[in-house]
Amino acid sequence: MSIVVVGTVAFDTVETPFGRGENVLGGSATYFSTSASFFTDVSLVAVVGEDFPEEHISFLQGRNIDTTGLQRLPGKTFHWSGRYGYDLNEAQTLDTQLNVLMDFQPELPESYRDADYLFLANIDPDLQLKVLEQVRNPKLVACDTMNFWISSKPETLKKVLQKVDIVVINEGEARQFTGEPNLVKAARQIIALGCKRLVIKRGEYGVLMFTAESIFAAPAYPLEEVFDPTGAGDTFAGGFMGYLANTGDLSEEGLRQAIVFGSVMASFNVEDFSLNRMKRLEYKEIQSRFGSFKALTSFKDISF
Ligand code: AMP
Repeated sequence: MSIVVVGTVAFDTVETPFGRGENVLGGSATYFSTSASFFTDVSLVAVVGEDFPEEHISFLQGRNIDTTGLQRLPGKTFHWSGRYGYDLNEAQTLDTQLNVLMDFQPELPESYRDADYLFLANIDPDLQLKVLEQVRNPKLVACDTMNFWISSKPETLKKVLQKVDIVVINEGEARQFTGEPNLVKAARQIIALGCKRLVIKRGEYGVLMFTAESIFAAPAYPLEEVFDPTGAGDTFAGGFMGYLANTGDLSEEGLRQAIVFGSVMASFNVEDFSLNRMKRLEYKEIQSRFGSFKALTSFKDISF
C-alpha cells in the first residue's frame, strides 16, 4: 500500500558540536519519504524553488519515491537553520525562510487521491488541511508539527489535530501546545481533542505512544556516535508509517512493532549529517538493528 506525504523539502544549515552542514538537503517530507521508502511506495507533495538541484530529485526518484506532486516554483527553496548543543534532544532554530512555501497551493495528482495512508508532515497547517481535503477515503491519517506552527497558527493546527487518527510530535511541542508540563496529562489533553492515538518523540529517551486506555514506551537505541539529530523525528515517522502501510496491521501489536521500526530508522539517521546515512543504508541493517532492539528491551516475566 502506498503513502502520500506532504511536508517540506528544504535546504538546511545545521551546526552540531561535531560539525556543520551548509545548505544541505533536508526537510520534513524528504526525511519522511526516504525512510518510508524502505518499506512501501511513497508519493510526495511538496514545493522547491528554482535553486533546487536536479541531483536531489534524482536521489528521491532513485528510492522509488513518486515526485509527480513535487512542484517547482519561481523563487528560493524553503531554508531552515538550526543549532544543537551537547544536548542533542532540542534544536535551536536560528532562522526559517519560508520562500516558495508562501505561494504553495498543493494540488494532488489524480493518482494520489485514493491513497490509503496519508502523512501530514511538518509544514504550514493550512497546507496540511488542503492536502487532507483532497485524499478521498484514507485508511489512516497521521500528522506532525513543530513549535514554529504552534506559535504562529495554533487555531488551524487544532483543526488538523481534530481530523487525524494519529498525532506524532515531540515532547517539547506537546508541552508547548497544551501549556501542561506533565507529559501524561498533556497527552490526555491532546487525545481529548479527538485524535485516537498520540506518539510523543523524546529524542534519546525514546518514544511514548498513548491512547485513551494505554501507554507504550520504547527506548531510543543507545548509540556511541550521534552526529546530527536533524530529521530524526521525520525519519522515525517514515519508518512507523512505512511499516504500517507495508503490513496493513493496525492492531495494537502492529502499531507497537511500527514504533520500533520507526526508532530503528531514526537511530540510523542520526549517525551522519543530512541524509548521508540513509543514502548508504541497506535493508539487512534495518533487520539486524530490529533484532538488537528486541534484545535491548526483552526481559523474563515472573509469576507473582
Ligand atoms: P526533525 O525531524 O524535527 O528534526 O525535522 C527537521 C527538518 O524539519 C529539517 O530538515 C527542516 O528543514 C524541517 N523544518 C524546520 N522548520 C520547519 C518548519 N517550520 N516547517 C516545516 N519543516 C521545517
